Amino acid sequence: MTDVPRTSEELHLLKQKYLEERDKRLRPEGLGQYREVDLAGAEYGDDPYAPPIERAAIEREVDVLMIGGGHAGLLVADALIKGRVDDFLIVEKAGGFGGTWYWNRYPDCRCDIEAYIYMPLVDEDGVMPSQKYVRSSEIRANAARIGAKLGLGDKTLFQTGVSSARWDEAAMRWVIGTDRGDTIRARFVCLGSGPMSRPKLPDIAGIERFKGRTFHTSRWDYSYTGGDETGNLTGLADKRVALIGTGASGVQVIPRLAESAGHFYVVQRTPAAVDDRYNQVTQVDWWNSLKPGWWEERAANFAGISVGEAPGFDLVADNWTALFAKFNSAAAAAAAAGVRKEVLSSSEAVDFAIMNAIRNKIDERVQDRATAEALKPWYNYFCKRPLFLDGYYETFNRPNVKLVDTQGRGLDAVTENAIVFDGKEHEVDCIIYASGFEVAVPLDRAGGFELFGRDGVRLSEHWQDGMVTLHGLFTDGFPNLCMIGGVRQASFSWNVSYILKRQAEHFTRVVKHCLGSGSRGFTVRQQAEQEWLAELDRASAVDIMFLSECTPGYLNNEGSDVAGGLASQGYGRGVLAYARQLEEWREKAMGSDLELLG
Ligand code: NAP
Repeated sequence: MTDVPRTSEELHLLKQKYLEERDKRLRPEGLGQYREVDLAGAEYGDDPYAPPIERAAIEREVDVLMIGGGHAGLLVADALIKGRVDDFLIVEKAGGFGGTWYWNRYPDCRCDIEAYIYMPLVDEDGVMPSQKYVRSSEIRANAARIGAKLGLGDKTLFQTGVSSARWDEAAMRWVIGTDRGDTIRARFVCLGSGPMSRPKLPDIAGIERFKGRTFHTSRWDYSYTGGDETGNLTGLADKRVALIGTGASGVQVIPRLAESAGHFYVVQRTPAAVDDRYNQVTQVDWWNSLKPGWWEERAANFAGISVGEAPGFDLVADNWTALFAKFNSAAAAAAAAGVRKEVLSSSEAVDFAIMNAIRNKIDERVQDRATAEALKPWYNYFCKRPLFLDGYYETFNRPNVKLVDTQGRGLDAVTENAIVFDGKEHEVDCIIYASGFEVAVPLDRAGGFELFGRDGVRLSEHWQDGMVTLHGLFTDGFPNLCMIGGVRQASFSWNVSYILKRQAEHFTRVVKHCLGSGSRGFTVRQQAEQEWLAELDRASAVDIMFLSECTPGYLNNEGSDVAGGLASQGYGRGVLAYARQLEEWREKAMGSDLELLG
């Protein structure tokens, strides 16, 4: 058992341990340690979940083109329709709606944010989520339902990828080309291709030589594993399976693989910190008692608690909000735990206490001592996305499960039929990569196409000295273009649906402002962008020291150029303040910050 440090010496020892563990994991090649996948190739580009769509190329003119039919696209469509902007089209790579929930179908894939505030539009449509944390299939079904309700079937080009996007100043339109030869001339374009849509693979020597079955969690092959999202993967009963990665996807699928695989190797690089989830079936009486407007109140309540704007009551009441509450009242919690201020800051004390509780839980739940030790995470809690799940640690008590702890290094190699670590080969039939996604990739790579703005300038050139936007949404020189769902220069939100809803409404208001004033478009004034950049600087809550001491990951750019990492790029005053910024801007500055064109 470990405890929160009470003396300076204890604190020094614990921090030393954290830094040693970080150093084991640091890789000089930074982001270069991953392999890109080919999104145009069959393995990652083809849609295995829907029959191929045959259609002729089209030529169309529309008011708005939405790129992406995930939650961003659906919420934009909903906002446009509510705003009576009906002339729009969606281009979507997959054969259905849902974005990340379309592709991610691995066993027990779920959203860890409660479904009541995560699943879009369930309040307006009276659709009751079955549980607090629902499976991917239920989120996907809700996306399909929204598509059908809004009549988006006829407005969506499925299994279609955008291949080019060029602003035509004379016509005051975007000219969009697709991989099916379509040409769409759109007045406005909204990009919602998602911050994590490109799977990545570890660059382990020899992975291309492996002769067994191999796939990424976001392209689960049920024809090989058998079973479905609930588990029961009968095809693996006589198989030796290795799973690489213990992040948010890895920890969800590990218990299901352990139940089914003949022999199961969990390849761990950095141990996950997994707290309990306590999922619950939705109580129908409670659901029926909700009053109109409940979604806004509940989602804002969650958002407020998450950023320390404590509203004094907790509607979601789960382990997320309990966690935020601990940090919000850190001083009181630290004092109650007898922590001396001269030894530890209150938030450090809360962080150590949470991590200690997790390490102690591992001791209680994992029978084999060496395995328990290897599973213990040694870093600050917010160095990674918090994870909530039931039964994760107990999985390692199963006789068919072996933890391959690579101590921050990752595997040394993969051969034709085995994984290799520390000179030891483990023969396997199947390797599954739970190795995550390229995170918040630059926009010129996100969708696999480059954007050319005024005078044919590429977006990557335009931003070669750094990204410049207004609210992370608009950039001068790229008229009538909106980029939603990104974190950079916008706000991070644990519940992505909240921010997407705000941004979708905002985009619609800007479109209506232009169309309503008889203009053919807008560009943002550079001065407005500079004011936003200044506000980002003033609002910066980045703790570079904290991030550089963190275990490497996507939040701190793998430990290299920490300040350029995702955690440093958002609006520091939090998601509610960001939403207020948008609202205030529409009321007071939209007229002056936008230059109307044509
Ligand atoms: P991830 O969190 O980036 O995890 C990737 C895993 O692969 C990490 O454990 C990483 O180890 C490991 N890895 C990478 N290279 C390796 C190597 N060479 N050898 C061994 N292991 C290696 O990716 P993810 O689990 O797919 O999750 C990505 C994001 O998707 C999450 O952060 C979350 O935002 C989202 N997600 C959300 C939910 C939800 O419930 N809302 C569910 C799933 C995913 P290191 O830790 O050492 O880097």
